[in-house]
Amino acid sequence: MSHVDMKDIVEFSKVRGFVYQGSEIYGGLANSWDYGPYGSMLKENIKNAWIKEFVQKRPNMVLLDSAIMMNPNVWVASGHVGGFADPLMECKDCHTRHRADKLVEEALEKNSKFPVPVNWAGDKTPTEDFDSYISLGHIVCPNCGKKNWTGIQRFNLMLSTHQWVTEDSTSLVYLRPETAQGMFVNFANIARTSRKKIPFGVAQVGKSFRNEITPKNFIFRTREFEQMEMEFFCKPWTDEQFFEEWYNISYNYFTTTLWLQEQNVRFVEIPKEGLPHYSRRAWDFEYQYPFGWGEIQTLANRTDYDLKAHMSLSRADLSYFDPFTNEKYIPYVIEPAMGLSRLTLATLCDAYTLVETEEGSRIVMKFKPNIAPVKVAILPLVKKLSSQAMEIFNLLSEDFVCEYDEAGAIGKRYYRMDEIGVPFSICVDSENYDQWQLTVRDRDTGLQEVIKIIDLKEYLKKKGC
Ligand SMILES: [Zn+2]
Repeated sequence: MSHVDMKDIVEFSKVRGFVYQGSEIYGGLANSWDYGPYGSMLKENIKNAWIKEFVQKRPNMVLLDSAIMMNPNVWVASGHVGGFADPLMECKDCHTRHRADKLVEEALEKNSKFPVPVNWAGDKTPTEDFDSYISLGHIVCPNCGKKNWTGIQRFNLMLSTHQWVTEDSTSLVYLRPETAQGMFVNFANIARTSRKKIPFGVAQVGKSFRNEITPKNFIFRTREFEQMEMEFFCKPWTDEQFFEEWYNISYNYFTTTLWLQEQNVRFVEIPKEGLPHYSRRAWDFEYQYPFGWGEIQTLANRTDYDLKAHMSLSRADLSYFDPFTNEKYIPYVIEPAMGLSRLTLATLCDAYTLVETEEGSRIVMKFKPNIAPVKVAILPLVKKLSSQAMEIFNLLSEDFVCEYDEAGAIGKRYYRMDEIGVPFSICVDSENYDQWQLTVRDRDTGLQEVIKIIDLKEYLKKKGC
């Protein structure tokens, strides 16, 4: 069980400037969300921590930023044009639309005695002929309770737009449904220009788009979302060894870098029959959200499927010549693919803590200092110390994201900083300031330490800010 309610997280995010309803003054746009001042910093920090762990610290990793709109043939080769579709049904009575695979999944969750469809493998591979299964009468409309379904139709999940080609004609282009293909189609460019030798990897962070039929759960499943993906190219038959390595790196990223509590993270191997045809092995990393376990990363062994598919359609040579062994081969690929928006939601849920006080409970967001949106608060004890406090702000804001606040009682200001997850608050009072020192309060213990002003930066760095 998660320790937090979804409605509390949504409310907190809105009130404290983490995530707003998109286009709110126009009544919103279904399923769109805007990251506010603190939410955007949090997401940026999660992303930068990922780039640091997955790219910066490794000599054989590089970064890429490829275009959202790509040649439509990219999506033909990747299989998205032909097969990237969800099974959709409409209730003939109330005209709500539902994903057939999700309805079956929910029915199975609610009732363990419910007959399991043949070849059922969860939402990964809706291969079952749901039509016959649903029409047997097991499944009712979650909205109106009737059993009056249309047949199942498959809708392609790619969002598209039109690009002006000449004055009077346009051509269809897709908004990428994943960032991965940008790394495959640039494989030869990167191998040539980065002078990396296999094994090496390419990482990318960016927006992707999927026309989800049933987006839900706040920022967990949205039509516009951000991904952090990495393709690690290796020699065929060395792939399993690198699979293990990236499994461990991913695990450390979740529990050590982001501080997600171990009991809220689990790893599930996808059974062989549930794997896509190009995949040899895959693990889902899941987080325990308020609505249940949800995927935050898939670690997949994609073999040479994508490079081969692009070679055959584009006729470009995407093979690799190994200068050490004089062999030519098409590399295998290990792919850790994460959802940045989902991970932002996971860190919000994980950090959300209620602390009991005499006046009732209050919220403390226990972000790890490295991902906290604001690292340090500068709080003059009284307003007339504002110029001294601004000096400290100017000193520290060179290296840390700081927040300045002079309004209200100091205790209330500490609590406000706890609520947005600021790990350290510095009180500027004249007695200490005159001795070139200040008190630093720790968010999680409430304890205060007196630190020399000249040592403040070093102190905060040591604490992981
Ligand atoms: Zn209905």
